[in-house]
Amino acid sequence: MSILKDKLVVARKQHICDLCGSKIENGESYRYVVDTFDGFSANKYHLCCNQAITKTFNEWEMCGEHEDYYLTSWIFEHIEDRLHSKGIITATMTDKEKVEEFLKLGKYEIPRF
Ligand SMILES: [Zn+2]
Repeated sequence: MSILKDKLVVARKQHICDLCGSKIENGESYRYVVDTFDGFSANKYHLCCNQAITKTFNEWEMCGEHEDYYLTSWIFEHIEDRLHSKGIITATMTDKEKVEEFLKLGKYEIPRF
């Protein structure tokens, strides 16, 4: 894999975050990454989503574990917090209902680094 581009930019129009699937507003800073892992891909992330990714990967490296479940649960916790703060999901929903809401909003893949 090689990273072709990795930078912080300020949105000049509205985008959709590739991690949480919600809007990156005009004027908001976000991380833009272009890589060639598994084909060409360009991803945009909110700064808080980017922090979740960075933290996950740092911990992942520190503990030397390559466990997908761990990675997934950390990222999903972050997405859940974001959607909860926006009122998209509620505490009374089951995990299955929450996942259905996640899927309605955008694409949910583990970011590739
Ligand atoms: Zn996001």
